[in-house]
Amino acid sequence: MTNIDLLLLPGDGIGPEVMAETKRVIEFFEKQGAAKFTVEEDLVGGAAYDAHKKAISEDAMRKARDADAILLGAVGGPKWANVPYDARPEAGLLRLRKDLQLFANLRPAICYPALADDSSLKRELVEGLDIVIVRELTGGVYFGEPKTITDLGNGQKRAIDTQVYDTYEIERIARVAFDLARKRRNKVTSSEKNNVMKSGVLWKEVVTQVHEREFKDVKLEHNLADSLGMQLVRAPKQFDVIVTDNLFGDILSDVAAMLTGSLGMLPSASLGEVDAKTKKRRALYEPVHGSAPDIAGKGLANPIAMIGSFGMMLRYSFGMTKEADMIEQAIAAALAKGLRTADIKGKAEKTVGTREMTDAILSELEKLAA
Ligand code: NAD
Repeated sequence: MTNIDLLLLPGDGIGPEVMAETKRVIEFFEKQGAAKFTVEEDLVGGAAYDAHKKAISEDAMRKARDADAILLGAVGGPKWANVPYDARPEAGLLRLRKDLQLFANLRPAICYPALADDSSLKRELVEGLDIVIVRELTGGVYFGEPKTITDLGNGQKRAIDTQVYDTYEIERIARVAFDLARKRRNKVTSSEKNNVMKSGVLWKEVVTQVHEREFKDVKLEHNLADSLGMQLVRAPKQFDVIVTDNLFGDILSDVAAMLTGSLGMLPSASLGEVDAKTKKRRALYEPVHGSAPDIAGKGLANPIAMIGSFGMMLRYSFGMTKEADMIEQAIAAALAKGLRTADIKGKAEKTVGTREMTDAILSELEKLAA
């Protein structure tokens, strides 16, 4: 049986609640004999600050580097609003992303049929939607230098941000997108603004070259980012994998997310390079939502984004397609039975809590495995 070393970082607020439920799903697959999971757990965010006065300890960082994959809950909350800037909860997450060089952010937007009427778009436009946005996460205008505000001395100020991409940054994110498409419907849409931005010209050129050289079997199309924004709300099902830079990806992935309803439904992955020694790609999986302090400790949180993040891990880190499909089918079946947490209540009369939603998903998994 494959041995998988996992690091779980539950974090703060609802993080530990949804992680506890996801552990039951991990145990289910272990019992099924899908893999042997060796699970370590540590603190991140406010919880780590309370214990070590740091947002993540060196020991937890070592475990993160050694793990085959990391599953993270969420960090933050009002309790830590006044801690020193370098020790604020988000610093733990940023340190993980930076030290592990997680340059590719994958955000799927899946619309389960049972929730199609809750989308802001018409049912026929979103029912069965299954797309992934691959966003470049460590470069572009959020990090480019110079990044300044200068007083011009005449009552005016000038603000400068710099959009900068080198060939290697575009090549590696393009490869992630093409690889991903091969495991899905084999189509990549690359998005930039080559009509007005030099970085867009280079982006398009490099993605086209990588495609020609290494991924000719995958269908590639280019779409200007503004046009892509329109297409996402006009006919989102035409896409499979969308690859774009940090800024456009930030915006377009939030647009795509809202097609599916609640934050509590959305998983994500952040991927790094393949390690030359271990041949494994560094990877951190986490729900898109935050620590939801307003509902923390009440057993109300929707566990689907967290369980779905574990499903993404099985699919993308370990090639366990069958098990990942089972998770998606079990979630769809639980929703089809009418089970709803408060965030996806819609017109439902009754809602369930974190535990009951997981019970329902586990019972569907049992049926699928039978
Ligand atoms: P949030 O995602 O925590 O919550 C926004 C709203 O969505 C809240 O009403 C919350 O109750 C609801 N919600 C979120 N997840 C849910 C779930 N699984 N089930 C049911 N309802 C859910 O965003 P926020 O309120 O802006 O931020 C709260 C804290 O989380 C802040 O400290 C913020 O910095 C942090 N945060 C962390 C991350 C992360 O760890 N990656 C991401 C975003 C925000």
